[in-house]
Amino acid sequence: MLRKKQTKFIFVTGGVLSGIGKGIFAASVGNILKNRGFSVNIQKLDPYLNFDAGTLNPNEHGEVFVTDDGAETDLDLGHYERFTNQSLTKRSSIMSGQIYSAVFDDERKGKYLGKTVQVIPHLTEKIQDFVMEASKGFDIHIAEVGGTIGDMEAVHFIEAIRQLKRKVGEENVMYAHLVYIPYLEASKEMKTKPAQSSVRELLALGIHPDIIGVRHDRAIEKGHLKKIALSADVNPEAVVPLPFVKRVYDVPSNLEKSGLGDYISKNLGLRSLRPKKNGWEKMQQNIKNSKETIKVGLIAKYLSNEDTYKSVTEALKAAFWANQKNVKIVWIDSEEIEKTGTKILDGLCGIVIPGGFGDRGTEGKIIAAKYARENNIPYLGLCLGMQIAVIEFARNVLAWPSATSGEFDQNSKKQVIHIMPEQRKNMAEDNYGATMRLGAYPCILDKKSKSYKLYGADKISERHRHRYEFNNDYREEFTEAGMMLAGLSPDHHLVEIVEIPEHKFFVASQFHPEYKSRPDYPHPLFVGFSKACLE
Ligand code: GLN
Repeated sequence: MLRKKQTKFIFVTGGVLSGIGKGIFAASVGNILKNRGFSVNIQKLDPYLNFDAGTLNPNEHGEVFVTDDGAETDLDLGHYERFTNQSLTKRSSIMSGQIYSAVFDDERKGKYLGKTVQVIPHLTEKIQDFVMEASKGFDIHIAEVGGTIGDMEAVHFIEAIRQLKRKVGEENVMYAHLVYIPYLEASKEMKTKPAQSSVRELLALGIHPDIIGVRHDRAIEKGHLKKIALSADVNPEAVVPLPFVKRVYDVPSNLEKSGLGDYISKNLGLRSLRPKKNGWEKMQQNIKNSKETIKVGLIAKYLSNEDTYKSVTEALKAAFWANQKNVKIVWIDSEEIEKTGTKILDGLCGIVIPGGFGDRGTEGKIIAAKYARENNIPYLGLCLGMQIAVIEFARNVLAWPSATSGEFDQNSKKQVIHIMPEQRKNMAEDNYGATMRLGAYPCILDKKSKSYKLYGADKISERHRHRYEFNNDYREEFTEAGMMLAGLSPDHHLVEIVEIPEHKFFVASQFHPEYKSRPDYPHPLFVGFSKACLE
């Protein structure tokens, strides 16, 4: 689209507080630029010293998002994919651990022979390599730096993006900084001082912002924005209000309305294209038309942070909106079911059992799966939710009371879900990481299955993140008793989807379909589930 194929860069930083929506902002900027016809990549630069998000605690950090190429990433990548309807790669998620590790590798290989290895220039150059590599071939590359400005852990990233401006040319770079304006109850005022200080901190690190996004939960006046523009030394059009919205999917159109698309195009010398009409608007219209609300139970275990199941909740919402309905997600603690029984499940139109690790709460989930199966209530199992469905079926239909997963009881003789023999070797060698099946795998659907009807194709590809698998020794017993192996790996070795054909909707997948659902293109399995809930 550009006259000269030069990638343009937009770097997003944030200040004042964490959690003010930098990820949504970066994703929304990606959305509006893509909608103007440009190819866009988005990348998260995370200051944590972890190598990736795989081992982060979901209660603290929310969902681990998985890309097609098997990277375990920060949940912001989920926002990026949903807002740009684009599958990203491992290049889009960089944590400090990866940067350090690459520098250490170089050092051992003798690449810095004779030199002292330093944060500047070695670490910063490595960051720039990762950014440049990810940006290759795109019209626009957006990189979001995690954390807030001034964080000790992020300085190498800030320094790296500062230097990049000279390397790729001033005219090809914009810096966006997000700030927050708090409201002070005592004086009944919105306060811009923290925002001003945050900009000053950015300036002190050598970065002059080109865009200031101003998050606020209460109404602000033009004067507030002016004040920020003045202190940040930018034109008033560079200051974009970001009011609290009930639905994040309204942010892109708000940004367009405030002129950000034109402003970025002008500043980066992009041939300004008129935003196109697209599926996004249809989705927004559907949301507006959604009046009725349907209750769906999410039987979970990490309940202190709703972000843990972010892709699942967004996939559910999208599927129901496509039917012009709202979904009310009822959060149910599976341990509560263990204590008090299925009473809390009464009145639900559907039940979802999402992914999870470890055996805590799994008995409650098994009870919930039984309740859904016996009462003909739509059931959608996602990864662990599929394993639970299989265990429940074994215990209560096949009458194998001791059936379980190797994850819950290593010594059990009735592991209907288990570690495959070829994986066991890695486990024995303490190479725990290598036992995980990660990323996209192909799957062939049985043409008689519900899944096949929903996908409208017999060959699909979906993302995985698990260790345990359906135990092939028991295939015959399951199918004879009425569980259909609706999806298999192309070599027929792995069971990827199970269904109960007799049931209104009982579909459970070993993969995570939620990762590939988009607000404007809801996932077929979620759509099927939502339709069944509406019946
Ligand atoms: N704990 C299960 C496994 O490792 C399921 C994982 C998941 O739900 N993502 O196989």
